[in-house]
Amino acid sequence: SASLGDLSGGNAGRRKRIGILTSGGDSSGMNAAVRSITRVSLQKGCIPYAIYEGYQGLVDGGQYIKELGWEDVRGLLSVGGTSIGTARCSDFRQREGRLKGVYNLIVNGIDALVVIGGDGSLTGADMLRGEWKGLVDELVATGRVKAEECEHLREELTIVGLVGSIDNDMALTDITIGAVTSLHRICEAADNLTSTALSHQRAFVIEVMGRHCGWLGLMAGIAVGADWVFLPERPPPLDEGKYGDDWQTEMCDIVKKYRKHGNRKTLVIVCEGAIDRQLNPIKADNVQRILTDRLGLDTRVTCLGHIQRGGAACAYDRFLATVQGAEAVEAVLRSKPGTPAIMIGNSHNQMTSVPLMEAVKLTHAVAEAIKKKDFARAMELRDPEFTALYNAFLHSTIYTFDSARPAPDVERLRVGIIHTGAPAGGMNAATRIAARLCLNRGHVPIGIRNGFSGLIKDEVFLFEWHHTIGWQVRGGSELGTNRDHPQPLPGGPKISPKGDGGFVDLGLIAYHLQKHDIQALMIIGGFEGYTAQLTMTHARATFPAFCIPMVQLPATVSNNVPGTDYSIGSDTALNAIVEACDRIKLSANASRKRVFVVEVQGGNCGYLATLGGLTTGATTVYIPEDGINIATLQQDIQLLLKRYSDEDRRGIPNEGRVILRSEMASSTYTTEVISNILRTEGKGLFDSRTAVLGHLQQGGVPSPMDRIRATRLAVNCINWLQHAASEARTSLTHNPIAGAGSVYTKDPAHSATIGIVGAEIIFTPVETSYKDADVKTRRGKHAWWREQTKLIRVLSKYEYHEDEQ
Ligand code: ATP
Repeated sequence: SASLGDLSGGNAGRRKRIGILTSGGDSSGMNAAVRSITRVSLQKGCIPYAIYEGYQGLVDGGQYIKELGWEDVRGLLSVGGTSIGTARCSDFRQREGRLKGVYNLIVNGIDALVVIGGDGSLTGADMLRGEWKGLVDELVATGRVKAEECEHLREELTIVGLVGSIDNDMALTDITIGAVTSLHRICEAADNLTSTALSHQRAFVIEVMGRHCGWLGLMAGIAVGADWVFLPERPPPLDEGKYGDDWQTEMCDIVKKYRKHGNRKTLVIVCEGAIDRQLNPIKADNVQRILTDRLGLDTRVTCLGHIQRGGAACAYDRFLATVQGAEAVEAVLRSKPGTPAIMIGNSHNQMTSVPLMEAVKLTHAVAEAIKKKDFARAMELRDPEFTALYNAFLHSTIYTFDSARPAPDVERLRVGIIHTGAPAGGMNAATRIAARLCLNRGHVPIGIRNGFSGLIKDEVFLFEWHHTIGWQVRGGSELGTNRDHPQPLPGGPKISPKGDGGFVDLGLIAYHLQKHDIQALMIIGGFEGYTAQLTMTHARATFPAFCIPMVQLPATVSNNVPGTDYSIGSDTALNAIVEACDRIKLSANASRKRVFVVEVQGGNCGYLATLGGLTTGATTVYIPEDGINIATLQQDIQLLLKRYSDEDRRGIPNEGRVILRSEMASSTYTTEVISNILRTEGKGLFDSRTAVLGHLQQGGVPSPMDRIRATRLAVNCINWLQHAASEARTSLTHNPIAGAGSVYTKDPAHSATIGIVGAEIIFTPVETSYKDADVKTRRGKHAWWREQTKLIRVLSKYEYHEDEQ
């Protein structure tokens, strides 16, 4: 990630001039990238330039190329599209156009270019770089520029690419800027269509973007619980043996089966580039006709079109664009003569720099593979997560469900599913997938209502397919959840129940698990879920009922469960914070001189405040990990006084500002206290108000990212439980009560937390992560996001060198 260590102006001598352009289709987050590149450039002693209207501005020059100042990118985080304009420019495809572009770069003294766009835009950039020397020589030879004018960039132009594209179709990066926001828009539309479809028992065919890439289609299909998806990389039918090329009949069979199992609606998603095995396009109208004619369904088509371009960026795109923008500036400064143009990508949650042309080449390879009908290769060329999610989708749909199939008795498992702790977005989605996957495989999913206190009151039921219809999109907890916690045995983990929670007798929990013959347990919850599992694992020696495989799926807005980079619910919460702060900032800006201290949740974990701060453009954040003291407050007040008086002195409008404070950052310096101090110390230069976001952060409808993470994690949990159970069955230790062949395990490895670490799914035994957890402060000891605080302060001019700005 961006080191941002050196704010001394970096390049001694001539200040580097960095041109920024956005090109191709606009995508949400481009503005966040422009803001970040501009501000980090200024902080690093470089001079940023906007090149307006994409490559057209580069070709036309003049008024289309302008130096950018700090204030020019104010407020851009919450603005959709690209404020510096974009275009599809045919002039730039010609050498003559590129020659003009080079001329304009030279006369403006620009020596590095950051291009934000899709594969076309990045190809154009690389083309410019390849021809650079020849074009410069020509301009000198024809006397259009003087040799001394371009001395410092005679040999080459530094080029860095950021991928702004809603399709997420670029190779060598896991995700592109704008894709997730686009998914938000698709899911909102599909969620709205679902309610009318349910009311009228209608079918909807939704066309989404994606010419060669089914990412949006697949993710939307998972997130909204579509009946079926048609993707460019994986043409139907799936069961070639049974259907040959007749995907129409396969689709009708699937839809019929869904309806038979109680579904009142039908939702089919078609990517604009969807094809059959013979490369004939599959169009939404086509699908509509088949559903109407063959099944008699009242079927409507909705083509989402440009709505998918996004509007205001979601939290994830703001984050991605901001950190990648900072990294782009670093890459410019690192660049040495002879380094190839690079693209900033993202792999395993880490930023990467890859040769730009290699990424473009691989991207084109997918389209080539499709053209050659090599669909296996096309899927292979996508990142492994794409295939894993595709399989997760299939295995959790009715497609693989066969109610007539006798479950293989020996392998059959009775899987308990329980929610515990506070509700978090995605809990229901995870439960739905887990229950359906169990049913599809012939296991018995058992829903436990109202947490551990519900279990001991026998609030237990057997899941059927239709029970979870619609759960994918519901917030809160359909099973019911509370903070009641298993009471540890003496010598067990030292835990006290939180909030309104009480202790539940461990013996009673064991008794009821045994009574319902629960052979594997999936706990969906936050830190309580973690400590509950620890408590039961610790008590295995006393209660054989706990000698079963247990897995926790982390679900909490706080993102404080050890062993995972993300818990489900945290993305929904972050988006709730971003939306609220956008509104608060409007109010702060309107009154010009107002500093809002916004209190966010997160317990003792500063994740929400930190990521919230980065994605809303906070001035600074107060988090429990750092605490608050009088010295930090004094420093912050000085900074604010200086910023406001600077604005007054320079005659520019004052900016409203937001400071994010984690609810438990300090027991002395509460949100109210800080705001009062700011108001008093503001000396009329600025005023202060508070906003406490509270339970709003638990969100309504879970974000698409949380639904997708829930799906991916739930599928892996069931696979893992199945595997652990079969290991336990074949081990030599047997349950003293149930005897041979029973599921009985004391293996610490068989009680784990599932986590997303980088792009990997890993299982960490709770007894291992215990060593890495701080049970008292309820968080892990290492957090990947800790280093982001520095970037927040750089982007809010918290630390800067005055002589350079
Ligand atoms: P999207 O993913 O939204 O389609 P894109 O960047 O791929 O974005 P394109 O229209 O393919 O969009 O490219 C944008 C611009 O980049 C083109 O209008 C053109 O100016 C330039 N460009 C694309 N390909 C080339 C090329 N081969 N040579 C020179 N310039 C190119």
